[in-house]
Amino acid sequence: MASSSKIIVVGGGIAGTMTALELQRRGQNVTLIDRWEPGHSRAASTDYNRVIRAISGRDEFYTRWARDSRQRWLELQAESGQNLMYECGALILATEGHCDWEDATAETFNRVGVPYQRFSQNEITAHFPQFKVDDIAYALFEPEAGLLMAHRCVLTGIDLFKKAGGVVQRGRVTTDGNEKPMLDGKPLEADVIIIATGAWAADMFPRTIKPISAIIGINVLYTSTPDGSEEFDMHKMPCWIDHGQGSFGIPSSEGSGVKAAVVIPDKIDLDNDERLIKQQSLTRTRSYITRRLPKLDGEKIVDSKFNQVILTPDTHFVVDWHPEHENVLFAGGCSGHLFKHGPVFGDFVAGVALRDYGTADRFKLGPRKKLSPKESPSGR
Ligand SMILES: Cc1cc2nc3c(=O)[nH]c(=O)nc-3n(C[C@H](O)[C@H](O)[C@H](O)COP(=O)(O)OP(=O)(O)OC[C@H]3O[C@@H](n4cnc5c(N)ncnc54)[C@H](O)[C@@H]3O)c2cc1C
Repeated sequence: MASSSKIIVVGGGIAGTMTALELQRRGQNVTLIDRWEPGHSRAASTDYNRVIRAISGRDEFYTRWARDSRQRWLELQAESGQNLMYECGALILATEGHCDWEDATAETFNRVGVPYQRFSQNEITAHFPQFKVDDIAYALFEPEAGLLMAHRCVLTGIDLFKKAGGVVQRGRVTTDGNEKPMLDGKPLEADVIIIATGAWAADMFPRTIKPISAIIGINVLYTSTPDGSEEFDMHKMPCWIDHGQGSFGIPSSEGSGVKAAVVIPDKIDLDNDERLIKQQSLTRTRSYITRRLPKLDGEKIVDSKFNQVILTPDTHFVVDWHPEHENVLFAGGCSGHLFKHGPVFGDFVAGVALRDYGTADRFKLGPRKKLSPKESPSGR
């Protein structure tokens, strides 16, 4: 690869932004193209916040990536002077009788050396009285986990990319019948074209990406903290994962309200749906909040988001060359957990793009197969 190659990154979510930043900083000549303004509300990388945690079940690879990413986010925070990450910790609630994933996480933490504490039911209540945990066997608390201010992370990445000399361009990249990337009816020309178009990649690459993808919509609610109380703010409450209830959440950060999502896989039309939460999700999430966070019962919804994830069968990301176009590299496969890994993901993709090394086996296009919840990094 020439010392300064022309590289196009398509997609300005966290995957594309961090990849573009890394390549530009390595002396490449990078243009990032997106259909909409980076930070826009249809992207998966939108919203106030995302959880960053090493908790990944048995999977050592993502556990280490998350730890390295945490360090990289802190460095980006120091460099930019922006509040990108808050270390409020994360709590995984292990439901009585269904603790395989949580047991596996504790073993991985012991092997890798990730700081954590194991809390009994009584200890959870003593530390975090916000949660009602009568159905919970135990919890793991990862104190160095926390939340990333997602929208701000993307915008900060774009800002640093531009400051390093990168170019951001508006445009819709399409593909022809052979899945060759096109812009304004002409083939895209560059030494490397990186496709980081998130869930949109499935329709753009019907032969290559669609067969290993499922796209689901997720509804997220923000509930007001009680009037006059700090109990649900991030300095008093951790992020949490509640697999038994198919749920996760984030304490109120910078006035957001308490975020809770009950994952009910929902259909989504990426371009045409209005991003409004569905009544069914509203009802289910409210009843979850009443059960798990009873002191929030009756508090008003103050915001909501409706976004998508693109899932691969094994929930591993996709970083691989197109089988027919040798300069086209895929970088995505979100699977509901890519945000936190952003800086390390970008660094890894940059090395593959510059042909410093090949991709990891787990990121190859295929074949892919579903993992058991114990093996899966997400526990699903
Ligand atoms: C509700 C929810 C909660 C989540 N929680 C977490 C969490 O707590 N922790 C975590 O780590 N991860 C979490 N995730 C997952 C994480 O947000 C995603 O994995 C990540 O944001 C994916 O980033 P991306 O850059 O691949 O895709 P996106 O952010 O979707 O970016 C793709 C970009 O490509 C652009 N694009 C698409 N098509 C074209 C085209 N044809 N031409 C030009 N541009 C195009 C789009 O406009 C978009 O800007 C969550 C996701 C959701 C939806």
